[in-house]
Amino acid sequence: MKPQHEYNLKQLLGALEKQGGNFDTDLITRAFSMCVTAHEGQKRLSSEDYYIHPFSVAMLVISYGLDSQSVAAALLHDVVEDTPITVEQIRGEFGDDVALIVDGVTKLGKISFSSREEQQAENLRKMLLATAKDVRVIIIKLADRLHNMRTLDAQTEQKQRDKSLETLEIYAPIAHRLGIRALKEELEDLAIMHLDPVAYHEIEQMLSLKKPYREDILNSIKQRIETTLHTDMPDLEFVIEGRVKSIHGIYRKMFIQNKDFDEIYDVYALRIITDTVTNCYNLLGLMHDMFRPIPGRFKDYISTPKPNMYQSLHTTVIGRECIPFEIQIRTTEMHKTAEYGIAAHWKYKAGVVNDNKMDNYLAWIRQIIETQNDNEDASELVRSFKVDLSQDDVFAVTPRGDVINLPNGATVIDFAFAIHSAVGIKMVGAKVDGKIVPINHVIKTGEIIEILTSNQQGRGPSRDWINVAVTNQAKSKIRNWFKKERREENIITGKAELEKELKRNNIVLDDEKEESFIKTIAQQQKCASVEDFYADIGYGGIILSKIIGRIKDEYQKLVNQSKPAQAPEIVAPRRSGNKDGVVVDGIDNCLIKLSRCCAPLPGDDIIGFITRGHGVSVHKCDCPNVPQNISEAAEPERWVAAHWNETVKEIFTSSLQISGVNRDGMVLDITTAIFNMRVPMHAINGRTAKSGNCIVTVTVSAESVEHLQSIMNRLSKLPGVFSVERMNQ
Ligand code: MN
Repeated sequence: MKPQHEYNLKQLLGALEKQGGNFDTDLITRAFSMCVTAHEGQKRLSSEDYYIHPFSVAMLVISYGLDSQSVAAALLHDVVEDTPITVEQIRGEFGDDVALIVDGVTKLGKISFSSREEQQAENLRKMLLATAKDVRVIIIKLADRLHNMRTLDAQTEQKQRDKSLETLEIYAPIAHRLGIRALKEELEDLAIMHLDPVAYHEIEQMLSLKKPYREDILNSIKQRIETTLHTDMPDLEFVIEGRVKSIHGIYRKMFIQNKDFDEIYDVYALRIITDTVTNCYNLLGLMHDMFRPIPGRFKDYISTPKPNMYQSLHTTVIGRECIPFEIQIRTTEMHKTAEYGIAAHWKYKAGVVNDNKMDNYLAWIRQIIETQNDNEDASELVRSFKVDLSQDDVFAVTPRGDVINLPNGATVIDFAFAIHSAVGIKMVGAKVDGKIVPINHVIKTGEIIEILTSNQQGRGPSRDWINVAVTNQAKSKIRNWFKKERREENIITGKAELEKELKRNNIVLDDEKEESFIKTIAQQQKCASVEDFYADIGYGGIILSKIIGRIKDEYQKLVNQSKPAQAPEIVAPRRSGNKDGVVVDGIDNCLIKLSRCCAPLPGDDIIGFITRGHGVSVHKCDCPNVPQNISEAAEPERWVAAHWNETVKEIFTSSLQISGVNRDGMVLDITTAIFNMRVPMHAINGRTAKSGNCIVTVTVSAESVEHLQSIMNRLSKLPGVFSVERMNQ
């Protein structure tokens, strides 16, 4: 071993010692030397020896308090991928556990999230499944990602941005859900540093500018609290510490919630850690006695823990200096959970996998996996993952005083299902602070919500609740109810919906052929029978707009078989789906395509032009290619009136051009705004114009002109945006 290797090994063993020993040092030493030998001669992009990477990951894993097998696996996590060593060899030398973990991490390594939504969903599912199987895999993967993020500078700029976005969207939320705070915060801060460096350094500077002054104040408050506690509660055991909010946390409040730095009350906070829950509440009372609390800022995460088990009391108070600051009060046990999350439980119950608390952490993963079946829309998984993981919570109260914790944007429907699925199912309305509200009422923290229920037979949720609800829990419970309770009805609705959709797409067959055609499609969708297929459409398990492409392909095959060479004017609908829903007056059953020059959307005034041999091309009436005065045009008879079919509801893709001030974070703001509107985005591109302004083009899916207009309105309100225009494609 070279001196450098010996030095690193010493560091490793020293770290184990600091964690309280009790490790299999022989196993870890052997893993270390295999790691060094296997990666011998390999370099990282930074020109460092490769083994430094797995070594650093192992150091992180030790600091999270994982076991010997995990440390060994961290050291070996890249050997299967990058060296000739196989999983079997690892099994032989280090045992089943280490081999399984290394195998898991290797498989996760091949997953990329920068792909399209459906692919992303599939990858996310794999990741969650792996986590549910052995949580050590994901923790090592997170540590791997953290070390890679720390050493991102050696990568190309594009790679830095891709990795940062992926970290922000997938890895940090998982770390958050597993409750490993330091890991989550560092991942987020590093990602923001690369995605929006100017804002990052701005915040960093503000923090260091205000620090001395704030620290003085907090120290004097701390002393005051200590003196009071020593006289009022002399037997109380407690520790007071200061805390500074992470840069990413401040960034979110400033740039996403549009708050001024000084409006963020919890940038600096005091934390009081004590022994029992009773003392937490006693301390809270005392704090409210010493300082003036700000109404509406008190949060009791002890009686209602966050989904990631976080427990603490939060209150914002105003001291003598008239500066608001946050106080967090918790027990030592809660503090460990807040810092290390699932890893804390691993630490104390090493090897005991069916520990209750451990189960709680993984429950959300199981819930997400279980409520998704193959028939369901895959992109829903990504969406519900992101919504359920969003970090802003709202708290609402039942009339009995129980606090319900929901993600931001949740409606009374989500509230009802969070109480109990029976309450949700029987819900007929809701009252907020004593007043009846519509069913799509978005909950704000502090509201007292009473769910009105009815036991009347035949009542139940309505289908559009699925779209109103935001939590995965409520959505899947409503779907399940429809699936179970309303099979007959589902079959009828599903059949009608399918027939309508087929007609709209000009898929017409005689009865006999239609039966076998639908049977084929049902089989493609993994339905046991045609009735099951109808029922799935009826309750929303299968979404027609998502499978219509495949249905059209199937139909095309059938048409090709029966009519080998047909006249060109009878053309079956193409897969794109874009032109469907256009009715050209006086012409039936011909090829209609939306012109690329103006890309009309449903709701636009449109006109058709009969081309030679390519059917009718549809333009917007104000397209420059449409003559101002048709009667004076060259061949006026070729211009025909056209309009949109009433039932058109397909999704249309449209590109927008946004121009504005060339500021950092513009692209991030645009993506966030689009994400918050739940609008699928397909491409985004930013460039600097000659004028010095920035021009961002973004391609999104919109349901109609009105929808697109609302997207454009929202984007035009972003700071620094001058104009948002639809682009001709
Ligand atoms: Mn690695």
